[in-house]
This record gives sequence, structure tokens and C-alpha cells, in this order.
Amino acid sequence: RKRWWRVVRALDEFEEAAATPVGRLRQVVDAMAVEMHAGLASEGGSKLKMLLTFVDNLPDGSENGIYYALHVGGTNFRILRIQLGGQRSILGHDVERKPIPQLLMTSTSEEFFDFIALSLKEFVEKGNDLQLAQVRGKDLGFTFSFPVKQTSVSSGTLIKWTKGFAIEDMVEKDVVQCLQEALSRRGLDMNVAALVNDSVGTLAVGHFLDKDTVAAVVIGTGTNACYLERADAVIKCQGLLTTSGGVVINMEWGNFWSSHLPRTSYDIDLDAESQNPNEQGFEKMISGMYLGDIVRRVIFRLSLESDIFGALSSKLSTRFNLSTPLMAAMHEDDSPDLKEVAKILEETLDIHDVPLKVRKIMVRICDVVTRRAARLVAAGIVGILKKTGRDGTGGITSGRVKGVKSGKMRRTVVAVEGGLYTSYTIFREYLNEAVAEILGEEIAPYVILKMMEDGSGIGAAMLAASNSARS
Ligand code: ADP
Repeated sequence: RKRWWRVVRALDEFEEAAATPVGRLRQVVDAMAVEMHAGLASEGGSKLKMLLTFVDNLPDGSENGIYYALHVGGTNFRILRIQLGGQRSILGHDVERKPIPQLLMTSTSEEFFDFIALSLKEFVEKGNDLQLAQVRGKDLGFTFSFPVKQTSVSSGTLIKWTKGFAIEDMVEKDVVQCLQEALSRRGLDMNVAALVNDSVGTLAVGHFLDKDTVAAVVIGTGTNACYLERADAVIKCQGLLTTSGGVVINMEWGNFWSSHLPRTSYDIDLDAESQNPNEQGFEKMISGMYLGDIVRRVIFRLSLESDIFGALSSKLSTRFNLSTPLMAAMHEDDSPDLKEVAKILEETLDIHDVPLKVRKIMVRICDVVTRRAARLVAAGIVGILKKTGRDGTGGITSGRVKGVKSGKMRRTVVAVEGGLYTSYTIFREYLNEAVAEILGEEIAPYVILKMMEDGSGIGAAMLAASNSARS
């Protein structure tokens, strides 16, 4: 008794609820632009926090010297050292990645930062060209990819944790001070010169390499975006003066929400069972922490409705049992009999001997989830272009959308980084395609998405360079 009709019905319902035709995407574009405007107009005016970063001068390629950076933001913690040689050149680049021990993600701020400081010390000591004494006074960029209320380019307090972190005593503390204190405890005399969100780091490196880069998006464990805004458009900070007339805004777009988002019953359940219900709604439909789990929820439902996956596997009922990289591996399985799909179902979910027909259903589910995620990111990106008048429609004023085409289009580069974009080819293709589809063939050639690897870390080191106390 397979109950195929139930499977077919559940799948059809899911596909329909998750559909992202271009008309719907355009509604998301408009909603994004309107919410951006509202978030800039007043504190708490939108679910988009639109945080001021105090970064007004992005690296321009002239930076010189050796700089370090720390990157904390998701599954992996990264330490970097770069050597800049002026003239847009990066002469050297070393990076070390370390998984953050699960225990530390819910420990105390002291334990957490001690781990980071110790790791940096070990990295410095391993470097063959530099010893501890020689890093004295060196500038350090710190990428910290959680919502932070910045008070200057090198200070800021944590607003809340996301992505499974929960070190309660850190909330509302100055993260740079915590890091600086841990560095002193470990005898590292380094200066935290820039505190940056990962998306801001990505924007910095993008701008270092190409001056037309005006926005950056990160799609890894979580998701976020930032862009270069005119200082006078930040209505909530009247009289904001910057030397360049611009300022980088950290959107915290993971928390974006709109009734136009194609939400399914699986999204509702995922949110309800998460550590932060009703928050990060956009992130929960898009980012690496969640995509695999949406797929798991769909298979779980199909297993309850039918026996196409055999007897109900207990592994299917546990959150996060199917990771996004494994989901991607199933989606990208190009063997004729979908061997990889069968193997992953067996090894991770304890589901055995599924026929080809069912393996194909697995691929289809992965496709629906990934396609929706990639196309929503595309709509978000075009939303930023719309807000900044770079989508060919003339931008928005006072929340009203003008329909006029502006005559002149500028070349616009958006830097994109994060494991989903860099390592999941189908995701990247869907995203690139959807941006072009929404913009239309006249405007699309002016908009270039550039993949950055390790960009946010390198960018943080570059921002340490351009904001160095010595410069
Ligand atoms: P961070 O954890 O700091 O966001 P990354 O940008 O490298 O770091 O993103 C890692 C995330 O990207 C992982 O949590 C995973 O969800 C996703 N990811 C990494 N590799 C792949 C892959 N091959 N396919 C799909 N998703 C991937």
C-alpha cells in the first residue's frame, strides 16, 4: 500500500506553496526596498534593522602592509593574515579554519573569547616570518557576523545571537572590549582596529578589487547583506556627516519579512521549533543552517502519509539530521541511478533500498527548496538595487515606487560569498539566473555578481588597514 496519491498531493501542495514566479519575486523586490526605506527612517521602523556601520571609506586598493583578521560567524572560525602591496594587490594570504566547539557556542563570553585569543596566538606563533614580539601593535580586523549596534568603527554591542549561538552574558556587551581583554590575558599585544559584519568585510574586499562594488551578500550558515548608502538618506541619523558622503549600512536582512514570501507549512513548523521563533524569517527560508532541515521535514511528512520510504525512520524526526551540504550532494547527484541519493538516505537517515522513482522525488524536493531560496536571494539583491536607483526604474522616494526608467545605467557589482553560493553550483546558477530574469535583458548586463572566497575575512583585514590608528 504505497498511497502514491497522497505523496503526489503533498508534493504538489508543497511545490505550489513554494513557487516563485517572477511576478511574486517582483513583489518581494518592492517589499525589500520599502522595508529598507522604513528601517532607515526610524529606529525600529522595520524588521530590517538597517544598522549604521561607521564605515564610510571603503578600501580603495592603496592599502599597504601586513594585517590580521579574525572571523567569527558560523560553523567555522577563521584566522587570516594578509599582506597588501598597494595598487589593488594582495601579496600574501594565509588562512586557518577551525570548527567552533559546540560547547563554546552556549558557554560564557570569557571562555569563548579565550578560545579565540588562544587560537590566534597559536596561529601567530606558527607563522614562520613573524614571531609574537613582531606582532606588537599590529592592527586586527574582527568580523563578527551577528547583529551588533556599532558605536564606532571599532566598537559595538551585541544585540542578539542568531544561528544557534547563545552566550547569554555577551548580549549588550561590547564585543571588541571582550576580544581585546582576552588578547591581553593571552599576552597578545594587538589592536582591534575594525569591527565588521561579515557582509561588510565582503563589500570591503569587493571594493578593494573593483570600485563599482556597492553591495555585498553573504549566504552561508546564515544570510545577510550590506550596501553603500548616501549619508543623507539615513533619516534616523539626522545630520550624519561622513567624509565621503556615503556610509555602509548593515541591513541584517536575515530578519526581513513580507507577506509576499512563499511560506509553506514546513517553514511554519521549522520556525516554531527554532531557538528564535518569529525572528530571522528570511534567513530560515534561505540559508545553509535551514535548507537541509526543510527537506527533512518534507520527507518526514511523506513518510507519515505513505510507505514510499519504507518503515518510518526515527532519524527523520530529529531536527537538523539532514545537513545542507548533504542535501546539495543529493541534488547534484548526476549518476543515472542516483547512487549518491541512495547512499545519503541510508547513511544519514537510515532509509534503505529506495527505488529510483523515490530517489527522483528526493531530488525534486531538494530542487524546490533550493530554487526558492536562490530566487528569494535574487529578489533581495534587486531590492537593494531598487533602493539605490540601480535597477533601471528610478529608485523609490518616500516609500512610493516610481515607474519611470532612468536614462543612464551604471555598471554595478555585487560581491557574493558564503558556502551556499561558492560551493553549491545549482544554487548559484538559480540565483544568477533569477537576478537577470527579474531585471530583464536591458538592465541585467549592467549588474554583475562576483563570487568572493574568504572575502569577509580579507575585507576585515583591509578595513583594519584603512582604519588603522597609524594611518
Ligand atoms: P559560515 O559558517 O561562516 O557562514 P560559510 O560561508 O563557509 O561559513 O558557509 C558554510 C555553510 O555553507 C554551511 O553551514 C553549509 O550550510 C553551507 N555549505 C557549505 N558547503 C556546501 C555545499 N557544498 N553545498 C551546500 N551548502 C554548503
